[in-house]
Amino acid sequence: MSRTTVATIHLGALRHNLARIKEMAAPAKVMAVVKADAYGHGLERVARALDGAADAFAVAAQGDGLRLRAAGHRQRIVVLSGPDRAGDIAEMQRLQLDAAIHHESQLQWLADASPARGLLRVWLKVDSGMHRLGFAPERAAEVYARLAAMPGIDPEIGLLTHFSESEEFEGTETPAQILRFSEATAGLSGPRALSNSAGVLGWPEARADWVRTGGLLYGLSVVAGKTGADFGFRPAMTLHTRLVAINHIRRGERIGYNGIWTCPEDMPIGVAAVGYGDGYPRSAVSGTPVLVGDRRVPLVGRVSMDLITLDLRDAPQAKVGDRVTLWGPELPVEDIAAQAGTISYDLTCGMTKRVLFVEDEN
Ligand SMILES: *Cc1c(COP(=O)(O)O)cnc(C)c1O
Repeated sequence: MSRTTVATIHLGALRHNLARIKEMAAPAKVMAVVKADAYGHGLERVARALDGAADAFAVAAQGDGLRLRAAGHRQRIVVLSGPDRAGDIAEMQRLQLDAAIHHESQLQWLADASPARGLLRVWLKVDSGMHRLGFAPERAAEVYARLAAMPGIDPEIGLLTHFSESEEFEGTETPAQILRFSEATAGLSGPRALSNSAGVLGWPEARADWVRTGGLLYGLSVVAGKTGADFGFRPAMTLHTRLVAINHIRRGERIGYNGIWTCPEDMPIGVAAVGYGDGYPRSAVSGTPVLVGDRRVPLVGRVSMDLITLDLRDAPQAKVGDRVTLWGPELPVEDIAAQAGTISYDLTCGMTKRVLFVEDEN
């Protein structure tokens, strides 16, 4: 039997979203962040859809840079965590990948690398308060000078930092990070890149020379209570399947593993062919909305590996074979994520190998 769970990727939505980011962030250039297999949408597919429109791609790992070069992309590609070991540098030179440099050990590998293999473009990463990757602000000028003195480094050195809570539009941490970064990099020349997606939405003063947007490209928001659509973006993924059974269950009977949901009356229970084995979150609670055709119904009981169960009392016309939509333009993935105690990125990134991916030009 062919798989019934399908992720449709809307190429037109990807293009629309990039155009909207460019409009909002102008005159900043846009790094299209395609790490984690393009947030689960498919790295090569997304890069192909955005080729020519993205000023650069950004990836988490060098292997993704290799995949993009193998697919024929000539744009700049920024590896956001840079080399993970000394041997990565020769490969980055060969593939002409930009390297983020965030740690003393990387400086040592760079100093030992052979400049004969070609100029390496680097971005110096400053830790302005996130405390994940980056040099302490007070070290920025010294590290910059060391990079500038290395023969194999492109003289245009970029300057990066990353926000820890830019989706908190009323918060005080982002302005503090912006200030620390601007003080740390005062007097250093080179393009600056601060903002992720929420930075673009909420912090126009941080747009600088480049923005690094992932979520918004896919139409996803991490702003509490807001969907990407609320900001004019279009969801790039629809996850759908089929109804495979409708059973009439009596009042007082309990549904699914551990019987966590009890029928309040005699009622129809629908069964749809999707589960955590596809990437639908097991943590989705009873009441999470699902579309059967265009009717919104609540999920009931525990999500299992291959199946979910639905309260069909409000969908009396439903029949086996009907299309079931788990998320997409008509059902924001942000809402499903909220019901599952996570964020939309986590859900789209979590699609498993058995999901069939198809493309739609819209
Ligand atoms: C993932 C990531 C981004 C993109 O974040 P979004 O919220 O998806 O826009 C930008 N910069 C860095 C360093 C990242 O790790």
